[in-house]
Amino acid sequence: MATSSSAAGPRKTARHRGEGQWALGHREPLNANEQFKKDDDGLNVRARIENVYAHRGFDSIDGSDLRGRMRWWGLYTQRKPGIDGGKTGVLEPHELDDEYFMLRVRIDGGRLNLAQLRAVAEVSERYARGTADVTDRQNVQYHWIRIEDVPAIWRILEGVGLSTTEACGDTPRIVLGSPTAGIAEDEIIDGTWAIDEINKRYIGKPEYSNLPRKFKSAISGSPLLDVAHEINDISFVGVNHPEHGPGFDVWVGGGLSTNPKLAVRLGTWVPLEEVPDVWEGVISIFRDYGYRRLRNRARLKFLVADWGPEKFRQVLEDEYLQRKLIDGPAPEQPSGVWRDHVGVHRQKDGKFYVGFAPRVGRVDGATLGKIADLAEAHGSDRVRTTVEQKMLILDIEEDKVASLTEGLEALGLRVTPSPFRRGTMACTGIEFCKLAIVETKGRGQRLIEEMEQRLPDFDQPLTININGCPNACARIQVADIGLKGQLVLDDEGNQVEGYQVHLGGSLGFDPGFGRKVRGLKVTADGLPDYVERVVRNFEAQRTEGERFAQ
Ligand code: SF4
Repeated sequence: MATSSSAAGPRKTARHRGEGQWALGHREPLNANEQFKKDDDGLNVRARIENVYAHRGFDSIDGSDLRGRMRWWGLYTQRKPGIDGGKTGVLEPHELDDEYFMLRVRIDGGRLNLAQLRAVAEVSERYARGTADVTDRQNVQYHWIRIEDVPAIWRILEGVGLSTTEACGDTPRIVLGSPTAGIAEDEIIDGTWAIDEINKRYIGKPEYSNLPRKFKSAISGSPLLDVAHEINDISFVGVNHPEHGPGFDVWVGGGLSTNPKLAVRLGTWVPLEEVPDVWEGVISIFRDYGYRRLRNRARLKFLVADWGPEKFRQVLEDEYLQRKLIDGPAPEQPSGVWRDHVGVHRQKDGKFYVGFAPRVGRVDGATLGKIADLAEAHGSDRVRTTVEQKMLILDIEEDKVASLTEGLEALGLRVTPSPFRRGTMACTGIEFCKLAIVETKGRGQRLIEEMEQRLPDFDQPLTININGCPNACARIQVADIGLKGQLVLDDEGNQVEGYQVHLGGSLGFDPGFGRKVRGLKVTADGLPDYVERVVRNFEAQRTEGERFAQ
């Protein structure tokens, strides 16, 4: 394989010698994470869970499995209850470990049939104390999982074609997909085949189970650009090529967290049948050339930033595909401001889909079961999750839409939500996450209620994303109001839960990161007043047609 090109320049070449890139011969592990991955592939922990840990219990779990390989099957220990945010990062990891797990189910493309939704609900009710959050990556996440129950959970989920394989860990995670793939009237191209093919060929395979870090993928042929393609490691976005017709524009190297970066276009057009090969080429570059020395520089975005899109495309073509790719156009601007598909919309077959909004993705097993019953009673067998923590029911005849909408509203799931309910997302937060400093989900739910009361007439698109720590699971940098959890000082000088504010970020139209307003921090208690003030100022000053992010 080729070594780092001279395009990077002598200074960079020297700096990157020794970044742990396998393709440059650095095969010796440079840190504890790389060591445990080399010692034993993460996928191999499944046999130990099935044969040993589930029988002997939590205390029998080997330490490097517990804090490492379990993730390859979607399992993380959850935070021990009662440890406040001031202890995060101060206590040793094992002091924060509860004996219960978070378990993530991958729902590639956000697609569920009713048997699958009922299985998800059953696991929640039987094994997860009713928990089941819809995440902003179209997954479902459980809490309170006992290691003893994991094999039975796998049997239920896998019995209906779902899995937890590589739902976490340094692996290819869920492949996001347009929730309206195959049904939208305005669809450019349906990427479903490629999502399934990537799963079949590459997920759970040892060739791609030891990556430098996680690898996030998205495929959408919707003109709404509805999978947050700007912040994935690789995205395929539907475009019409003037000569070749519908296909995909390829984006690489997006990601948030610390050092957020928007993805860049490779400037190539890829037909549907070649998407899995190009995906494999890109993930292979990441595996081989990705930086493995420091975990905080290990995401693909750092390699893409150093190489630039031209060199990245050249390496992809020359070393991995052995052919040139076709040049292609960029996608148009998104066809709408909201990209969550909430509301009632006509499908291309004349039926309708109904998108609805739980509050900050919080549902539960009982509610999921009731959603399945409602869908069935209205003639549907298909449900979708979105990257905004929302859900859709597909294939509804026109004369049944009103009754379904009524049924959903009765469950507290709004089909015409306020902008606050529609646009607010929250990560897991201190309730269960070991990295969290502050609480998020409950606060997000209360903020929605409060804002609905205080500003009942506000009707502009607005996104409020709430994170429990400096990571970016709820995408704070690309929200109109991004709230990064941290301890702050209140008026009396006491350390209390609060947020650093980022203002004016967005995806879609003019994507960009919010400004961290220097020194602007709000206490958790002061959050409703602050949001009200920002929204009222915006209302008072906005010009005709101006959106919040402008
Ligand atoms: Fe946990 Fe932080 Fe991610 Fe929230 S943003 S889920 S607190 S790691």
